[in-house]
Amino acid sequence: MLNRPDIIRTVTELRAMVSTWRRDGQSIALVPTMGALHDGHLSLMRLAATQADRVVASIFVNPAQFGPGEDFERYPRTEAEDVAKLATVGVDAAFVPHVREMYPEGFATRVHIERLGDVLCGAHRPGHFDGMALIVVKLLTSALPDVAIFGEKDYQQLQIIRRFTADLNIPVRIMGAPIEREADGLALSSRNRYLSPEQRQTAVALSVALRMVRDAVRSGDDPAAASAKAREDILQAGFDAVDYVEVRDPWSLELVTEPGRPARVFGAARLGSTRLIDNWAIE
Ligand code: AMP
Repeated sequence: MLNRPDIIRTVTELRAMVSTWRRDGQSIALVPTMGALHDGHLSLMRLAATQADRVVASIFVNPAQFGPGEDFERYPRTEAEDVAKLATVGVDAAFVPHVREMYPEGFATRVHIERLGDVLCGAHRPGHFDGMALIVVKLLTSALPDVAIFGEKDYQQLQIIRRFTADLNIPVRIMGAPIEREADGLALSSRNRYLSPEQRQTAVALSVALRMVRDAVRSGDDPAAASAKAREDILQAGFDAVDYVEVRDPWSLELVTEPGRPARVFGAARLGSTRLIDNWAIE
């Protein structure tokens, strides 16, 4: 299937397109991304096509979710390649707005998520989740899809989105999709392209260490002890810093202090100036 998606730049055009589909009785799925698309993103698009008649992908590098000194400027922007990839997975429209379309002159609104937004990446990237929530609220209320799909790669983000869509009565079904990985287990990420060949070799240690925490906690080990061991292993492998390795409840994201109940292990670590995250379910 090679139907190039329509490229839409404004909220007005997006609304017009969606309402035409709605008039024809068609359902709509939305898949938000920041572009630099890889197979993880494309798996979300394929899932979307099984959930609705029409699929809209958005590509927007959202300045509001990058902190000072983070990688907003250098974040890869590959629109032409991205649109060609979207054509292979049955996406009907790509919403690719300019920054001034989403944040016009005079823009003054913020969204803040308490508790879920304070831990894990929230503790290390101040303002990140508020900025993410702001753009996702805008995308959802602009497209008004039946379903929106987000990857478990950004598991905390997924739970925060579930929270604020419920809190704000945004009428959309939020669906999570499994993490796509390289053959050696490294989670696919747009940021992997920052890695030198040597760093790429080291990078797999994050997923390996987290999987060992999963296995240890599954077989009855103390979550805090297993997490501490993983932090050491990640540094030993050649990472420059570990932001966190923690075992938390999959819904409340509260710390889990004993084995034997559903949990998830989360990790974030830095290789040079590249920050990688990953997580595994502990069933
Ligand atoms: P991003 O472009 O990084 O903002 O990601 C857009 C969406 O793709 C988010 O919902 C991510 O969680 C999801 N995603 C990114 N990497 C992966 C992956 N390796 N597997 C599954 N979903 C992913």
